Amino acid sequence: MTETFAPRDLHSHANPGEVRVRHLELDLEVDFQRRALRGSAILQFERRDAAASVLRLDTRSLDIRGVETGGPAGWSRAAWELGPADPILGAALSVPLRSGDDRVRVAYTTGPAASGLQWLEPAQTAGKRQPFLFSQSQAIHARSWVPVQDTPAVRVTYEATVRTPSDLVALMGASGNPTGGRGGTYRFRMPQRIPAYLMAIAAGDIGFEPLGPRSGVYAEPSVVGRAAAEFSDTEKMMEAAERLYGPYRWDRYDILVLPPSFPFGGMENPRLTFATPTVLAGDKSLVALIAHELAHSWSGNLVTNATWSDFWLNEGFTTYIERRIVEEVYGSDTAGMEAVLGRQDLEEELARLDDRDEVLHIDLTGRDPDEGATRLPYEKGALFLRTLEELAGRKRFDEFLRRYFDHFAFQSITTAEFVAYLREHLLGGDGSKLASVPLEEGIERPGVPASAAQPASENLRRVAHAAEEWTRGRCEPAKSDFPRWTTHERLQFLRRLPAAPSAEQLRDLDRDFQLTRSTNAEIAFQWLLMAIRGGYAPADARLEEFLVGIGRRKFIKPLYEELVKSEAGRRRAAEIYRKARPGYHPIAVDTVDRILGSGA
Ligand SMILES: [Zn+2]
Repeated sequence: MTETFAPRDLHSHANPGEVRVRHLELDLEVDFQRRALRGSAILQFERRDAAASVLRLDTRSLDIRGVETGGPAGWSRAAWELGPADPILGAALSVPLRSGDDRVRVAYTTGPAASGLQWLEPAQTAGKRQPFLFSQSQAIHARSWVPVQDTPAVRVTYEATVRTPSDLVALMGASGNPTGGRGGTYRFRMPQRIPAYLMAIAAGDIGFEPLGPRSGVYAEPSVVGRAAAEFSDTEKMMEAAERLYGPYRWDRYDILVLPPSFPFGGMENPRLTFATPTVLAGDKSLVALIAHELAHSWSGNLVTNATWSDFWLNEGFTTYIERRIVEEVYGSDTAGMEAVLGRQDLEEELARLDDRDEVLHIDLTGRDPDEGATRLPYEKGALFLRTLEELAGRKRFDEFLRRYFDHFAFQSITTAEFVAYLREHLLGGDGSKLASVPLEEGIERPGVPASAAQPASENLRRVAHAAEEWTRGRCEPAKSDFPRWTTHERLQFLRRLPAAPSAEQLRDLDRDFQLTRSTNAEIAFQWLLMAIRGGYAPADARLEEFLVGIGRRKFIKPLYEELVKSEAGRRRAAEIYRKARPGYHPIAVDTVDRILGSGA
């Protein structure tokens, strides 16, 4: 832990130590026919090394049409060079600079398979009439739609002009998102400094409904009403987070609900969270996802991991804060259940992952950072913070976190910087219980320290008991309680049943609890996993519908992994995937290709 870790980013070609980009001006046309963004980016930079003579940017499959450099003497064509395309990093764009230059203009078009963009056919949307485009820049996909210094250590402000067909709406994670008229030309400005992975764009037939004075929801017109009802507690969540961690610093907080192929639950694009429609359960039971994305307004977006090895600083903190927001708004029972289910997720990951991937401060040498995006940094990180909270006491720990966010606001920091701050501001003092916190063990080693906090929930304990009884053949208690149980309790019940129930048990479960018909994505997922394990044929059609209709990686990855465990299942998986693949996002395609061992 004593190393002074120079934040050399393994996942970027850029040279921000010499020349650092500070501001972007984008001018982009959204071409749905060619599935391309076409236009230019002006990058304003400052020299950190006066002798620096080259600006190096990250790109991936961009068609570069020309590069100019600009300074007091005006614009001048540059002898730019594109390096070889690395399969993980993409290609470095090197631009020689004249002395006095302070900007570069790159004219470019995105490639048809840009890893950070998904182009949807009208048939893949709820409305079925208009195409849809959305971006997913994290971890290193921004470079596939903007030539940038694509490292979280570099923060920029930006402005953008985006042109779409005149009946469509464009949105960005910025100010300027339209709440009414359409015209085909949209202007955005992002006044807060952000790393490239938080740049976001979307376009489609999109409506808006306000949620509060500074929040609202965007979605396709047929979805926006349902989404507004589901997310009506957003303003309350913002107020709760502000009470705990200080003012919300991004002006507005809006949510864009995407079509179901969005590969993640949510993406914390500043000012405009992108969210999966699979959280629209109709009863707010899955809105912890919004608490999570909102929490990123402090942990991740305000104080940012400097490299992808420090990813746990984003996600562990955010998962901890998410549960604090849930506790404020929905009470400690709900937050307690989420912590227990999270601890179960962590145990599952620990059983599955290699040692090197169980380390919070993960080594990603030679790997795509998307490989480090397991549940581990979320749940092990949250548990680490919860352990600190229990030792320090809530009041003291809350004050610590609030000061931490102020201290590092709008900066990108490494694990070593966090640890130094933690030592100085929380752990110090002789005889402190906190002096015994096993930092090295908690952050740099696999597994979980024996002294880690052990979340408990009385509700879930009762449900686990009901599951045991049910397994022993005493089905009545669960049968009478199930209708009153929350989503969390139902999930716990299913998880506590035998992993591969018998055919008879599966039939009884489905008859008593209508699981194949569940419209709650979390419940349906848990059930389908059991149905695959137990070879329960009546759920086959639902499984196919689920896998073809939804592209959220959290759900589809374990289901395909379960399928390929048997020969018949593997054939089934390949058959379903043939139908599903054209609708999946490039990131999900990459994941499932790996599971099925081919480009199917
Ligand atoms: Zn997150």
